[in-house]
Amino acid sequence: MDTIHAIPALRERIAGWRARDESIALVPTMGNLHAGHLSLVEAAQSRAGRVVVSIFVNPMQFNDKDDFAAYPRTLEEDRRLLQDHNVDLLFLPEQAALYPKGLGATTRVEVPGLSGVLCGAFRPGHFVGVTTIVCMLLNIAQPEMALFGEKDFQQLLLIKRMVRDLHLPVRIIGMPTMREEDGLAMSSRNRYLTPEERSRAPLLYQALRRARDIIRNSHGGCDFRALEDDSMNLLREDGLRPEYFSVRRASDLALAGPDDRDLVILAAAWLGKARLIDNLRA
Ligand code: AMP
Repeated sequence: MDTIHAIPALRERIAGWRARDESIALVPTMGNLHAGHLSLVEAAQSRAGRVVVSIFVNPMQFNDKDDFAAYPRTLEEDRRLLQDHNVDLLFLPEQAALYPKGLGATTRVEVPGLSGVLCGAFRPGHFVGVTTIVCMLLNIAQPEMALFGEKDFQQLLLIKRMVRDLHLPVRIIGMPTMREEDGLAMSSRNRYLTPEERSRAPLLYQALRRARDIIRNSHGGCDFRALEDDSMNLLREDGLRPEYFSVRRASDLALAGPDDRDLVILAAAWLGKARLIDNLRA
């Protein structure tokens, strides 16, 4: 597996593949790879001839400087994992190449509305950072497809919307959330949990499952707002600090009403130093 840092070199390599009619899939990540990331790689390999994984801890999407500084960077381990998975190319861009004029002076991509709710309401500017970097990476690599995890459901929806709105010629593919055996969604941030917190972390997923079961068993008669309040209280009683627990329409993340059928329940909660997010279709 080769590693490429420079944008022109990446473009040249991809142009060579394309000239031989090979299809290209991009898997954007921030590194500290786990089985969730690798499931995206495997899905990409089953769909495209060449798979490019990018690792870039994107400063624009961190609303907290300390969070950016502390984000786990495990490049050598990541490289080994990708090599073992027969990834074709690792793209490791430098910050100065992506943001030559600095973060503040760079053109931004914003999906209105969707980027200000749920995680966007608690992490101002986060999703503008996400859609800006993903737009850049898609323009740099120009893959046929790019793969993202449903674990970050709001992010996936925003990226699909951006691609549609800007008419970008790429297919966005969402993949199911990979979980630990006890149900905790895999995440690079799980390493911030102490052993005691780690043993309680699956409570978030359990609260989502409980809410999903209540919705299913209500046969259309569920009071979503009461269920949200109740679930927030349960999480607080369990020692988590929930930011939101919300039943939404899966298609556009509007608050779910009694007539909506295609639902997703999304939650974010702090446990110690870790901010956990998860979601479940209902
Ligand atoms: P990150 O490195 O956290 O930015 O994540 C890179 C990609 O991996 C994103 O598309 C995430 O949604 C996806 N991802 C992260 N965690 C998981 C997981 N547990 N299961 C599936 N995909 C995931």
